[in-house]
Amino acid sequence: MTGAAATDLLAKAWRHLERFHGGTLGHFINGADFGGLSGATFENATPIDNARFNLVAAGDAQDIDRAACAARDAFRGWRAVSGPRRRELLHGIADAIEARAEEIALVESFDTGQPLRFMSKAAIRGAENFRYFADKAPEAANGASLPAADHLNYTLRQPIGPVGVITPWNTPFMLSTWKIAPALAAGCTVVHKPAEWSPLSARLLVEICHEAGLPDGVFNSVQGIGEIAGKALTEHPDIKAVAFVGESRTGSLIMQQGAMTLKRVHFELGGKNPVMVFDDADLDRALDAVTFMIYSLNGERCTSSSRLLVQGSIYDAFTALVAERAGRIKVGHPLDPNTEVGPLIHPRHLDKVLGYFDIAREEGATVAAGGGRASDPAGGNYVLPTLLTGANGGMRVAREEIFGPVLTAIPFRDEGEAVAIANDVAYGLAAYAWTADLGRAHRLGRDLEAGMIWVNSENNRHLPTPFGGMKASGIGRDGGDYSFDFYMETKNVCIAYDTHQVPSLGK
Ligand code: NAD
Repeated sequence: MTGAAATDLLAKAWRHLERFHGGTLGHFINGADFGGLSGATFENATPIDNARFNLVAAGDAQDIDRAACAARDAFRGWRAVSGPRRRELLHGIADAIEARAEEIALVESFDTGQPLRFMSKAAIRGAENFRYFADKAPEAANGASLPAADHLNYTLRQPIGPVGVITPWNTPFMLSTWKIAPALAAGCTVVHKPAEWSPLSARLLVEICHEAGLPDGVFNSVQGIGEIAGKALTEHPDIKAVAFVGESRTGSLIMQQGAMTLKRVHFELGGKNPVMVFDDADLDRALDAVTFMIYSLNGERCTSSSRLLVQGSIYDAFTALVAERAGRIKVGHPLDPNTEVGPLIHPRHLDKVLGYFDIAREEGATVAAGGGRASDPAGGNYVLPTLLTGANGGMRVAREEIFGPVLTAIPFRDEGEAVAIANDVAYGLAAYAWTADLGRAHRLGRDLEAGMIWVNSENNRHLPTPFGGMKASGIGRDGGDYSFDFYMETKNVCIAYDTHQVPSLGK
């Protein structure tokens, strides 16, 4: 990392990181720090050099119980707070996130290895999520009027109760706000279990919410290992619903764990998203989008377009351009403002991604760019942006989520074959298509098995629209009013005009 700007950023980052360094990061329950009952901890390291940075309290079932009871007790008061007051509080949180956006981005970039250029935007998106749901808080309880001949029916929406939010490590701050903001706007209280590989920014969020005046117990954070703290949260009887973002197989486990308490679940899971490039497309724009949507955020992105399907007539030329771009991408220290790809989150994840390079070679794919570690004297988890060509839809590299900067390119003959390849995977989160044919754009919107389809665009989010996946990519949708469907119960009230014939027995 070189240059005055980079040195300045490192110094700034350190000012925010110092408080965590060498200490033990605890939980935050009922408006106060809590170290955990057992005293057990786990280590947290930065992916920049894998050196131990701090310890983190390893929450267990007793700590989760404490947090769930705090959330249960606080629910009575929070559900009664008016919509306009909730709006005001949530806007206060958004203001505080904006005021601390640089700190959040620097801390998170250091903790996750995600390049600062993307984490700065993610921190601001966190504030936008709070602002959007703040404005929706006053209308959250609104229902519908459904009059019948003899009765007036109307619906009410009421918060479901205390909810559990379990998040992954890839963009932890932004993703947690995507769940926590609508839950709070709906009138639910929250217990958040952040990912064990990225614990730091969760502390910033709970601290910001507390300082913005959120009542004690409304939002609690318990650090810990998924199989222990996460599991206990999904099994707790006072937690009425679990919003989970993570791997598909973890989603299955959570469904089993929550079965005894009939937990409502919302899952945002893995993906193996196709981007299709037809020969009539604007290829310059398509090239930008294809490279951005796999190599941004280290490829550790649920909506990354990790399968490139290219029409046969342009396959060689287009993949050559992608390979050239991949070779020019700047891999480096995540806090360097010039860096485009940083280190992967953890050595175990690095091994997984490197393993797919071996699998690709064994399967007969060609490594057209990258295909190995990027050299780094500090021993960070760096890999080269990689393009695999000559692949087919049957290969593991074309079917399994790698979750790194690795793109698998597959040729197709025509629209029918493109759709068949695109749909022939277990996942169904997102799909992207590049074409100048309007009719085809609509047919793809209809035929692709994915919860979100972007045509002639990269992943562009508009907060009122539904976000979520089909098949093994998820259950439920976030965004707009869809979020309230999950965090609230819909109740129907039916009142007679007193004129209908009431059936009688034994008269
Ligand atoms: P993961 O499933 O390993 O972990 C996610 C969270 O679940 C962590 O907090 C973990 O501690 C917890 N957990 C693990 N086991 C648990 C259990 N048995 N009970 C309760 N909680 C448990 O996922 P990850 O590796 O952290 O994240 C990467 C995955 O997340 C990828 O598959 C990616 O596609 C997915 N993701 C999806 C979206 C989306 O919107 N669809 C967004 C981001 C990431």
